[in-house]
Amino acid sequence: RPRVLSGIQPTADSFHLGNYLGALRHWVALQEDYDAFYFIPDLHAITVSFDPATVHDRTYRAAAQLLAVGLDPRRSTLFVQSHVPEHAELAWVLNCITGFGEARRMTQFKDKSAKGGVEAASVGLFTYPVLMAADVLLYQADGVPVGEDQRQHLELTRDLAQRFNSRYGDTFTVPEPFIVKDTAKILDLQDPTIKMSKSASSPKGILEILEEPRSAAKKIRSAVTDSDGEVRFDAADKPGVSNLLSIYSALTGRGVEEIAAQYAGQGYGAFKVDLSEVVSDFVTPLRARTQELLEDKGELDLVLRDGAARAREVASKTLRDVYDRVGFVRAS
Ligand code: ATP
Ligand code: MG
Repeated sequence: RPRVLSGIQPTADSFHLGNYLGALRHWVALQEDYDAFYFIPDLHAITVSFDPATVHDRTYRAAAQLLAVGLDPRRSTLFVQSHVPEHAELAWVLNCITGFGEARRMTQFKDKSAKGGVEAASVGLFTYPVLMAADVLLYQADGVPVGEDQRQHLELTRDLAQRFNSRYGDTFTVPEPFIVKDTAKILDLQDPTIKMSKSASSPKGILEILEEPRSAAKKIRSAVTDSDGEVRFDAADKPGVSNLLSIYSALTGRGVEEIAAQYAGQGYGAFKVDLSEVVSDFVTPLRARTQELLEDKGELDLVLRDGAARAREVASKTLRDVYDRVGFVRAS
């Protein structure tokens, strides 16, 4: 079976609908036909300012949500990045074959360092895409299911794999991006010109997958639309309404045209009320299951321990090859 690998950062108490629709639901579907590796990148989570107790708590919360949305640890390998030290070790080697200018062209660094300025940003944030390349290449993944926002990082991953292979001998599988076109990007409810993001969006711009239904309804009611009053999909001229239509469509499996037709001549009120209902039906069981998993961490610890052991079997073999190829003497 071909192998896929993907990760989601523990940078919020809850994942959001962009994460679910752009990534997690595909992860669940891919378990059927792929040898899937899914991990929680805690090393990535500390590239921006962080609080240790929060990182700890959110790592468990992330694991619980991954199980709640339907990842099955018997079929997929589910682990925490720092439990597999090979990630940091391979990242170092890749850092040494990455050009400074090449790393500087990564737009996420520009975006994420914009607030505090480049001078205040960490070197870890700068080299984040290289660590991500290590994550993927360690497992010889054939495909990487990610949202549109990760396309540039995946291009770097491919470049580094090809560069290493041609300089030091065939070592890495060059991965393909699996970017799902429809609902590829869910937008911020308050500013539909930017993507919904755990760390960059304001709370009112995010719909969490663990959101309390009444709070979700409130956010949907105040979501930015336009003054034209017609429920219609037009991503360029009506980004707010189109974003709500995308969410409605993805959560119900109905087409955007069909949904738009249902609200013809009704304005945005009824549409938003019904969307709140759809979101409520989605979040309610997820909230219950996540809560249950977090009450006793024993089950989560077992799942993560088993996942890390399986991940290390693959990762340690790749790292050994890499070390051999670059000429490191094996420890005797
Ligand atoms: P952060 O702000 O901490 O970077 P994030 O919301 O961007 O958080 P990530 O953990 O970086 O989330 O990404 C997890 C997965 O979710 C990735 O595959 C990413 O492509 C996808 N993703 C993130 N935001 C969106 C979005 N708005 N629409 C679709 N997919 C998204
Ligand atoms: Mg992100």
